[in-house]
Amino acid sequence: MNWISNFVRPKIRALVNKTEVPDNLWEKCRACSAMIFHRELEASQRVCPHCGFHMRIGAKERLDSLFDDADYTLIELPEAIQDPLRFRDSKRYSERLKDAHSKTGQREAIMVAHGQMGGQPVVIAAFNFAYMGGSMGAGVGEGLLAAARLAVLQEASLLVIPSSGGARMQEGILSLMQMPRSVIAVDMVKEAGLPYMVLLTDPTTGGVSASFAMLGDIALAEPGSIIGFAGARVIEETIREKLPDGFQRAEYLLEHGMVDMVVPRRELRDTIIRIIMLLRQPTPPAEVVPLPTRDESEGRAPTDSGSEPDADAPEGGGEPAPEQ
Ligand SMILES: [Zn+2]
Repeated sequence: MNWISNFVRPKIRALVNKTEVPDNLWEKCRACSAMIFHRELEASQRVCPHCGFHMRIGAKERLDSLFDDADYTLIELPEAIQDPLRFRDSKRYSERLKDAHSKTGQREAIMVAHGQMGGQPVVIAAFNFAYMGGSMGAGVGEGLLAAARLAVLQEASLLVIPSSGGARMQEGILSLMQMPRSVIAVDMVKEAGLPYMVLLTDPTTGGVSASFAMLGDIALAEPGSIIGFAGARVIEETIREKLPDGFQRAEYLLEHGMVDMVVPRRELRDTIIRIIMLLRQPTPPAEVVPLPTRDESEGRAPTDSGSEPDADAPEGGGEPAPEQ
């Protein structure tokens, strides 16, 4: 029945294709399947207006949305050794790098920029998941070190935004070495007494979550992000137990104390600026008014002894401790 495959099927396919939505105009929400007009999606920073699902965004979009007036300077990342193992699986690693470069226009999975947030100097290192799953190889390690050095040099806060599947397998042990390297980078910033913040986005897993991503002075996360080390399926198969609902999601980590705040994308910039202000300008903007002492607040005359209140007195009692 060749005429079916040669004649009828293409006709049907052509009919079906006609009713299909062009890719560039509408996008389907992965969570609620709603079709969203691309302009509406851009306006909402790629957050579904129907269910609030946070779609992934690239490094450039991150930088644009966070810096004051989307004004920042990208820094040239130090050249790292390319394809040190001459690795090949189903495809050469060097070809994968070329593909990632032409797809994203980036030379590495990370972008480093400096600028201001709320008038304060900030260095941001943002990962791009579209570049080989945001995986961390020597180039990304160099990028993190460069970001840390720049933050120290400029006395700026450092914000790292991982979106990564973890270490880059194609670089073998060299990719694993980026874990301690990134920790050294973070330590440089901490030793200089500068704030180091992390914004965990979907996904933050593997060697990335096992190194710099979990060391933030403040750890923020985007709603619904997957954050963990090993994947849920691997854990389930290893421990032979059903994992709880929402396991490895940002909200679950917040409940269990691994994350400080889960912040919707539209509130991120203001929240980060507020944190930077709190960390860097601890002087309160208003005059400090002393709280009334306990005696004043209870409407009682101060004790006549004139001595300091007994620090060991039982709390809330107000009665003097019995003499022994
Ligand atoms: Zn949705």
